Amino acid sequence: SFDFAARVERVEPSATLAISNKASELEAQGVDVVDLSVGEPDFPTPQNIIDAGQDAMDAGHTGYTSSNGIRELREAIAEKLRADGVDADADEVIVTPGGKQALFETFQTLIDDGDEVVLLDPAWVSYEAMTKLSGGSLNRVDLAPYDFQLEPALDDLAEAVSNDTELLVVNSPSNPTGAVYSDAALEGVRDLAVEHDITVISDEMYEQITYGVEPTSLGSLDGMADRTVTVNGFSKAYSMTGWRLGYVHAPEELISQAAKLHSHSVSCAVNFVQRAGIEAITNTDDAVTEMRDAFRERRDMLVDLFAEHGVDVPVGDGAFYMMLPVDEDDAAWCEGAIEDAHVATVPGSAFGSPGYARISYAASEERLREAVERLAEHDYI
Ligand code: PLP
Repeated sequence: SFDFAARVERVEPSATLAISNKASELEAQGVDVVDLSVGEPDFPTPQNIIDAGQDAMDAGHTGYTSSNGIRELREAIAEKLRADGVDADADEVIVTPGGKQALFETFQTLIDDGDEVVLLDPAWVSYEAMTKLSGGSLNRVDLAPYDFQLEPALDDLAEAVSNDTELLVVNSPSNPTGAVYSDAALEGVRDLAVEHDITVISDEMYEQITYGVEPTSLGSLDGMADRTVTVNGFSKAYSMTGWRLGYVHAPEELISQAAKLHSHSVSCAVNFVQRAGIEAITNTDDAVTEMRDAFRERRDMLVDLFAEHGVDVPVGDGAFYMMLPVDEDDAAWCEGAIEDAHVATVPGSAFGSPGYARISYAASEERLREAVERLAEHDYI
């Protein structure tokens, strides 16, 4: 038998895995499952991006690139960040195979055994795993009592952080709640980060998917330039989950450390995918607007449908998720919902918030309606 490393034994397999296994099992038996458990847009990648990727392949862009990514893409990313008010330079960017790798490299670069990482619950599942893989210790602040908003939880956050805190992760718009944090909330984070000399990851993966609000980029706030790690990617904004493309921006001294991990692990992001990324970031506004409008309509429809069944869902202004209040034993609720109603969702406890089920509304209106009907029919709402 193998003598496994403690760092992998500390980590649980992804909680969404159990749900998707169950869904696949049922589907294999011919059952029609409404799958609201997946975190990816249900739109095809816009054609101009596909064309750019194909053209790049045809043009022979199939070899390694420089490890941190091709300069033209890093320039385009820096320009995008500057438009968001972040003082960015191409040399402060690493292009990664997905935002997940960008986050992983950041954790590995900053966290030593025992270093404290503060998460805002409910938090995307991989932050916990990345903390454990890097040997860090978790300190979690619960936003559930505040309808998942950060501003009213600032006192709790102030209680939680200290000079021992190494890293705080902020994810706005949030997966799994959809919450977009107010400027006052982000300024509160800034004040605490400066006071306690904390590095903050701003995971802006859903920044393009907001409804009627303009999210502020944390790194644009006074005092945050030299302590913010901005992570973003192409998966959600451009419906490019399978292309695997993301990036990290941080002060150059951090980037040059992370670059070592990057070059010794992935070497570089895929060459022709990076070239398609240039097209995405510079030329895809209309498709992004269309997807955003569709998500907004679905969110509003879903909130109304739940309200008709007497369920009040705390709704956020971004991403394509909402947290449906369910039984305290949310794992049992989710298991029952998939078995009886054939509707797949993810237990809130996977994100640190029991008593909820995360619903992804990256599905057609027809399927969303079907899901609510089935849940009602089987007395899950
Ligand atoms: N951050 C958040 C909050 C996410 O929800 C996801 C994907 O689900 C990611 C990061 C990583 O996305 P990707 O690696 O596809 O860029």
